[in-house]
Amino acid sequence: VVKLVLVSLLLLTALSLPALPGLPLLGNIGRPLTLTSPGSLAELLDAAAPQTEAALLIASDGTAVRVYRNAFSRLRLANEQNAWNVYGDSLPPVCDLRNLAGIAVDRANRTFALHLLDGTEERETITPYAAVLRQFELLGTSERNGCTAMKYRRIADSFTIPTDSLLALCIGRPELFPDIAQVTFERYYFSAAGDTIVGLWRNPPAESMFTLHEKLSGLMKEGPLLVLFVDSYGLRLHQHLSAQGCEFALQGLSPLRAAYPSKTASSYWAFGTGSSYWLRNKRGVILEDVLQSGDNAVLVEDDHPYYQAPVPVLAITDANGDGAIDDDIYRQALLELKQPHDFLMVHFHSIDDSGHDFGPYSPERLECTRQVVGYVNELVAAWNGPVLIFSDHGMHDDGKQGGTHGSALIDDMLAMWGRIK
Ligand SMILES: [Zn+2]
Ligand SMILES: [Zn+2]
Repeated sequence: VVKLVLVSLLLLTALSLPALPGLPLLGNIGRPLTLTSPGSLAELLDAAAPQTEAALLIASDGTAVRVYRNAFSRLRLANEQNAWNVYGDSLPPVCDLRNLAGIAVDRANRTFALHLLDGTEERETITPYAAVLRQFELLGTSERNGCTAMKYRRIADSFTIPTDSLLALCIGRPELFPDIAQVTFERYYFSAAGDTIVGLWRNPPAESMFTLHEKLSGLMKEGPLLVLFVDSYGLRLHQHLSAQGCEFALQGLSPLRAAYPSKTASSYWAFGTGSSYWLRNKRGVILEDVLQSGDNAVLVEDDHPYYQAPVPVLAITDANGDGAIDDDIYRQALLELKQPHDFLMVHFHSIDDSGHDFGPYSPERLECTRQVVGYVNELVAAWNGPVLIFSDHGMHDDGKQGGTHGSALIDDMLAMWGRIK
């Protein structure tokens, strides 16, 4: 009972104290974060935002100081008289700041970076940390004990980017051609009219996963349709093959806009339904507007098909256990070619798999591409009717040894398509 009373008293005391709001973190954090206790900046940041490389300490009066990782252990965050203050231990005196308003952190997390795309190029990537920095002007640099401190002063209360009839890539919403005037930076992401914006694309390729869907019914009127889905064969891989003089690059293809996020699930959904992945239903059935059950049609997929269709979706396994799936998919496709199909779709996966494992431009991936393009050419030659080839996204180096995709980076957003026959 005594313990219970003590605990209750402690709780009451804690509740009655005026609580100082947490100190907001800004920049490359990926989600709202605050620092709530005083202490060594190195320890506080390691706990809240690991692998922070640099930080901008921002005081309420508009003064700011940029320091790097090696200075963090010399900085102490204090909570005094209802304010957050910071003190440097043997650092340039500018590091002592009163009344902090927030700390912007620079780290590799680029979740909410804004990609400015133009045609098939990336004009600029603005990370949330860079967006904070652009609201400040550098006044001078000082150094002590191997630590650099850069003093800034605030010159703008916000950071905005004008948008003039660009395509906007959003999180949680279909892509937009916004009539909004600007994109505004908000603490750790960019927004416009309530949407989180990760890309602005001037002159995007006219064809997208959505417009490709619209072509399907027209193509099917011209004869039995073969659709070859070459996962991850993006424009950058295609350009690399051409630059290397690889004669096996797929011929007759043009750039295609992936759906954002630049992943199989979202681009496949957009291709299969003409609608945005953000609006998908739980049924997960594609091609319902072009195929009916009972049609002479089949989809040849790997052992974990993303979606179902009104017609059979064959889940092919790695029957010969060689670790690759596309040889098995190719063999099944050859069997299907002998059937009187009005629609046959074959989804090759290995170019994506080997890119993830070995890197976008690794010898392993190039060899894999050579093989898959061989399968594609064989199937095209054997088909009587129109052939549509497309890929769902590109890929970029993950900075370690593999490849990744899913971002609004141009390398990820550029897929390819072509009507071959
Ligand atoms: Zn994919
Ligand atoms: Zn992938």
